[in-house]
Amino acid sequence: MNYKKDDLITVLIEDMGTDGEGIGKIDGFTFFIKDAVIGDQVQAKIMKVKKGYAYAKLLHILVPSSDRTTPLCNVHRQCGGCQIQALTYTAQLAFKTRKVKNNLVRIGGFLLDQINQAMEPIVGMQSPYHYRNKAQFPVGIDKNGQFVTGFYAGRTHDIIANTDCLLGVKENQIILETILTYMRENGISPYIEQTGQGIIRHILLKKGFATGEIMVCIIINADTLPQADKLVKLLQKIDGIVSISININKQKTNVIMGEKVCLLWGKDTITDLLSMRNDKDIHVDKVPLIQDSIKKSNEEYLSYGDSICFAISPHSFYQVNPIQTEKLYSIAVDYAGLTGTETVWDLYCGIGTISLFMSRKAKHVYGVERVEQAVLDAQQNAARNNIHNATFYVGKAEEILPDLYDREGIYADVICVDPPRKGCDDQCLATIIKMAPKRIVYVSCDSATLARDLKYLCTNGYHIDRLRPVDLFPHTVHVECVVLLSHKSNSVINT
Ligand code: SAH
Repeated sequence: MNYKKDDLITVLIEDMGTDGEGIGKIDGFTFFIKDAVIGDQVQAKIMKVKKGYAYAKLLHILVPSSDRTTPLCNVHRQCGGCQIQALTYTAQLAFKTRKVKNNLVRIGGFLLDQINQAMEPIVGMQSPYHYRNKAQFPVGIDKNGQFVTGFYAGRTHDIIANTDCLLGVKENQIILETILTYMRENGISPYIEQTGQGIIRHILLKKGFATGEIMVCIIINADTLPQADKLVKLLQKIDGIVSISININKQKTNVIMGEKVCLLWGKDTITDLLSMRNDKDIHVDKVPLIQDSIKKSNEEYLSYGDSICFAISPHSFYQVNPIQTEKLYSIAVDYAGLTGTETVWDLYCGIGTISLFMSRKAKHVYGVERVEQAVLDAQQNAARNNIHNATFYVGKAEEILPDLYDREGIYADVICVDPPRKGCDDQCLATIIKMAPKRIVYVSCDSATLARDLKYLCTNGYHIDRLRPVDLFPHTVHVECVVLLSHKSNSVINT
């Protein structure tokens, strides 16, 4: 059959691609259909034909999949942030598990049996909404000249007005509405990308889930915010806000934040607290996070069991889903198998979150991170938590590690890596192999690059012992993974 643009097709969706798109086949010809989910029988219109495959637009769901659910968000299709909100949460977890397995088999070249043996059940959330502790909202003007804030429509810079995103915390809505009211009443205009005119570019909101502390940072295309005192007065009334600042970004760029932050009111950081979870808590969220209303002082955090407190500034990197992050780090620490005598290297350590968790159970932890401010944060976080057995280096893992290995012959019992999506650099992996730690704990946010790196590590003396996906971003196609690799010379499951 020769398909062409605008042809109508009826097809059963048999699979879903890495971006959540539905995949169906007719006589070996593949169709990619956005917004169709596995199990749907759909009618679609062909938009673009390629050799052997075509992209089609979903017209009608003829027979809905049993995995389909009615999305709670009205704008989820335009927004594109939640690619798989139309799947039941159980089906989302199954999709993510399949995605990890597929990548390990196709890209990593592992046998499915071997992966099935090592793989532990994906860690989901009991309540997969309102989990994000950070959100950045662009501000603009709609067709009717109204000031709006919300999200960019998938792959564009058109703003979809929405102050009530279901992934963010509930307080975001009142804060955004308050800022829009202040803008309207005082004639403070949004920044317009095309002209470079206007003042308010983005609104950055962060919340410490364990403390209830909220930070508001307004990113502006000016040196000062006109009528700032009026805004501060309005925001002060909202429960939880402890920090109000502006960030100056006068560049014509897609980069959201500029360098300079000026505090308008309150503290320059908010505090959050992360606790270790035991095995039982990892499956179900039985342990409630400290309620917002119970606000603790710094001293109280320190006496709160084995939890660690962090100071978060507008610029600092901090995992966006603290409930799942606790589980992720707890698995990473468990996989590291620490007894108190180990030397641990934590590469791509950010503000030292994993390092500090590990330091409580290791002899010494060395962190490596490219961003200098993150390392300064890591050092301060160590001090804040009375942790003295953690040392942090600024620099690229692929430069710092080989350099220290060549000059000082550094040693590790355990190496943990948590790289960005592009995975680990070759030089970094090659040095890890030379250092030959007993165990490697790989925390990954992209299972395709994870598969590539595991292939390398496993052809150079390592073996996958355990593997566990963690759902840090419900309703999106992203999935985190923790993998334990053992050196074949001391692996339990030696093959
Ligand atoms: N482990 C931390 C951060 C993980 S995000 C946490 O869980 O919070 C990945 C981190 O790697 C980021 O902080 C990023 O700045 C850092 N990074 C990116 N490329 C790097 C490189 N080549 N060498 C060292 N760090 C790098």
